[in-house]
Amino acid sequence: MKVGIIGAGYAGLACAVELAEAGIAVDVFEASRTLGGRARAVEIDGQTLDNGAHILIGAYSETLRLMEKVGAGETVLQRHPLRLDFPGRISIKAPRLPAPLHLAWALLSAEGLSWQEKVAAIRFMRALKKARFRLPRDITARQLIANQPPILRHFLWEPLCLAALNTPVDIASAQVFLNVLRDTLAADRAASDLLLPATDFSAMFPEPAAHHIEVRGGRVFRSTRITGIQKLVAGWTADGLGPYDHLVLATAPYHLPALLAPIPELAGVLRQVEGFAWQPIVTVYLHYPPATRLPFPMTGVEGGHAQWLFDRCALCGQAGWIVAVISGSGPHQQLSQDALADAVHGQVARLLPGLLAPLQTRVIEEKRATFACTPYLDRPTTATSCANLWLAGDYVASDYPATIEGAIRSGVAASKAILS
Ligand SMILES: Cc1cc2nc3c(=O)[nH]c(=O)nc-3n(C[C@H](O)[C@H](O)[C@H](O)COP(=O)(O)OP(=O)(O)OC[C@H]3O[C@@H](n4cnc5c(N)ncnc54)[C@H](O)[C@@H]3O)c2cc1C
Repeated sequence: MKVGIIGAGYAGLACAVELAEAGIAVDVFEASRTLGGRARAVEIDGQTLDNGAHILIGAYSETLRLMEKVGAGETVLQRHPLRLDFPGRISIKAPRLPAPLHLAWALLSAEGLSWQEKVAAIRFMRALKKARFRLPRDITARQLIANQPPILRHFLWEPLCLAALNTPVDIASAQVFLNVLRDTLAADRAASDLLLPATDFSAMFPEPAAHHIEVRGGRVFRSTRITGIQKLVAGWTADGLGPYDHLVLATAPYHLPALLAPIPELAGVLRQVEGFAWQPIVTVYLHYPPATRLPFPMTGVEGGHAQWLFDRCALCGQAGWIVAVISGSGPHQQLSQDALADAVHGQVARLLPGLLAPLQTRVIEEKRATFACTPYLDRPTTATSCANLWLAGDYVASDYPATIEGAIRSGVAASKAILS
């Protein structure tokens, strides 16, 4: 059997790793020179950074399994018990206790919350658990948290929802948010751990995955954009390459129309992805003198555009590089890159008084970072209405929002469908 996979993001590579492991011949085609898609390394003035700061969480079981399989393991991640710090406002730290004590302790010992607010948070989690994290009908996350005290909405549920779904609570699917809470806060203690990257996102999984595939006889073609796919009597070709018994489309959803438009049976998939709305993520890199450090490698910030700051020195040894993340749409999109970098520097300087202006800044805007994860979003499935043509990607129907774990799970699901 021979399988062609279009796209070497986390989904396509996960699918290829599983198939290569099972002894199947795979060809992976990637348009870019760099592997990793929306989670990839970029070179900025001689430094290897990322197209955007990503974090993983302990619940990313399939990601961790495949990273282990390709030899990346957890050495490229820093594992920290769940910790949400908004300096001067609230601080929630989970101890290394078994679940559910870790969460109860984290909430009861939280700094910046009154007893009533702590009890309200615990009651909310207990009610969700009693309902098995299922809603009779989907609503927005804003409606879900409407009865929580304002400080909890502002510093706990809204940032968690935005970080997990990359969709503001006003339009985010409460059910998908609950799926994430179920698998993180309400699962084993380790599931809520923060896994912060100690390397760039191409080295994290894509490069070791490509090596793993190649030593098993598979091929990974970089800088190779596929412009058309053709159905054969049995199987498929991609730009005349192949033939392949199975073809997996592991592109981002917005790349699908170019490949699917000529195939009438797939008009339904096209309608689904053309119905998606997008949410951006803007990453602001600020390069300060080497001694500049944050109190913790990942810190919440308020009172400005940035929501989270990361300390690349503490994570990857890149001294002086502070990274700010702005998830979702907002007024920051109207600013020039310099004005945005200035504004974000203001937020960092409030945290680190006396900090001088950065030596260098860089803004990367991913306009279509993820689909907007709204209630009842109609997402395509792994199987298509064409035999032996499969979809993989973070947008494929699942419990999860657009995340690395969602992408990896979809790739694994496509490999299982092919193997079965
Ligand atoms: C800035 C940013 C921050 C994020 N933060 C997080 C986070 O903290 N945690 C988290 O879990 N998730 C995060 N995400 C989401 C996560 O990165 C994505 O969900 C995931 O990487 C999607 O992987 P994928 O394989 O489905 O798609 P993609 O990564 O989009 O991969 C698709 C690949 O297909 C290639 N391709 C497309 N068309 C063709 C063609 N015709 N021929 C050949 N190749 C083609 C593309 O070049 C690309 O490499 C973030 C995303 C962004 C953009």
